Amino acid sequence: MSNEDLSSFAALGITGVLLKGVEAAGMTEPKPIQQQSIPAQLAGHDILGIAQTGSGKTAAFSLPILEKIIGLGDKRKGKTARALILAPTRELAVQIEQTIRTVSKNAHISTALVLGGVSRLTQIKRMQGGVDVLIATPGRLTDLVRENCIDLSETRWLVLDEADRMLDMGFINDVKRIAKGTHKNRQTALFSATMPKEIASLAQTLLRDPVRVEVAPQGTTASEITQIVHPVVTKEKRSMLSGLLTDPAMKTVIVFTRTKHGADAVTRHLERDGYEVAAIHGNKSQNARQRALNGFRDGTVRILVATDIAARGIDVPGITHVVNYDLPDEPETYVHRIGRTGRNGADGASITLYDPGTENQKLRAVERVIRNKLPIKDAPAPKGPMPERPRLDKPEIADRPASNRGRPSGQKAGNRNSSRPKFRTERNHEDRGEAIWTNDGRSEGRNEARGEQRNSNRGPSGQPAKKPYRRSRRPQNGGGRAA
Ligand code: AMP
Repeated sequence: MSNEDLSSFAALGITGVLLKGVEAAGMTEPKPIQQQSIPAQLAGHDILGIAQTGSGKTAAFSLPILEKIIGLGDKRKGKTARALILAPTRELAVQIEQTIRTVSKNAHISTALVLGGVSRLTQIKRMQGGVDVLIATPGRLTDLVRENCIDLSETRWLVLDEADRMLDMGFINDVKRIAKGTHKNRQTALFSATMPKEIASLAQTLLRDPVRVEVAPQGTTASEITQIVHPVVTKEKRSMLSGLLTDPAMKTVIVFTRTKHGADAVTRHLERDGYEVAAIHGNKSQNARQRALNGFRDGTVRILVATDIAARGIDVPGITHVVNYDLPDEPETYVHRIGRTGRNGADGASITLYDPGTENQKLRAVERVIRNKLPIKDAPAPKGPMPERPRLDKPEIADRPASNRGRPSGQKAGNRNSSRPKFRTERNHEDRGEAIWTNDGRSEGRNEARGEQRNSNRGPSGQPAKKPYRRSRRPQNGGGRAA
């Protein structure tokens, strides 16, 4: 094999059934991150990867581990995992497991998922005989390790995926503790979209002489994404959003809100306006989140309203538009958000609703991170009629706002007509007489936080975790932010 030949997975060192699985999964040509990191990992190096979701990083870190594990046979100690992949969110963990299962279809690789929000018992049972690859979120894993349901002492491969997001979510101490419990001769890969100094120093502690791989300059946005900023006062954002969504070009849309409360409010508003919409955030049950995501993936739901943490790492192909309903608290989050679109070479668009009165500093911070000035333009007039009326056949009663439960599906509290936005012409910052949608202008609500951590920060009896495997009680960084 020539060192220069990076044109196929075989040339990178992937063999046998794994190679077949990779090809069957439609991965014919390795992506740059894979070309850079697979040979290095196969040669035994630690990896420091700077890459966003969409770059192909999951296969980049999984394939070398799988390649090595396949040669080890089936003998495993109970409760152990040969490899551990840590991810910040449940959705990302599920996605990683799906990728691993797909590529290792005929390779007898056993996997387990350990994450909060779903039954612990199934996870404990799954770990009893030991597994090849454990994919976990740090909270639940910390709990199960502390309770001796999982033994990490045999774990010789460790991957930290989206390390910057784990930091944001307050998992950093859990991550350090988990890493400490793994085999001392482990091989480690750390992937992060951005490299704040805390992650750089974590990498220094956990990685041994790592090979650095990078697919896009830190903090830059993908080039295929058109970005635009529409100025609008906060109380008019909802109606502007409804108006924008009349554009048939907005086929598959993810709307990001800063808070869970905000996500619920926007979802209700869009439902009221007749849009097909689902929400995903940390207060939703894992099943509801997965159902929302599945609906979005299979096209039955056109619009997904999400908080940053819940949406982190989600890979749904074909998202045409990302709407930043508000600007994120952390400017780097903007890069993650818009990375949901423009994937795999497709075109994508990002629309940011920006309140010049309150979000000026946040916009400047984003521009500093992306090293670009974002074009600010008034929103276009609606391109078509609003949907006729809300759908009447929504089955997921549990997912509807509490105020609507008990009523037939689709029927809303109060007089529906009174809450429909009225179409009128504004003359303020829109003093060119452009039409915008007006709304009821209810305030956006408070900052809600930490549901994700809180849910899994309990022992079997619901008691908080105890030493030595104590969960971090408080996020280290950005702890008051929404999940
Ligand atoms: P990731 O960044 O790991 O979330 O991957 C993003 C998407 O790219 C996933 O849908 C993968 O299935 C896909 N993908 C990864 N590597 C390749 C490849 N070499 N060729 C084609 N698709 C790929």
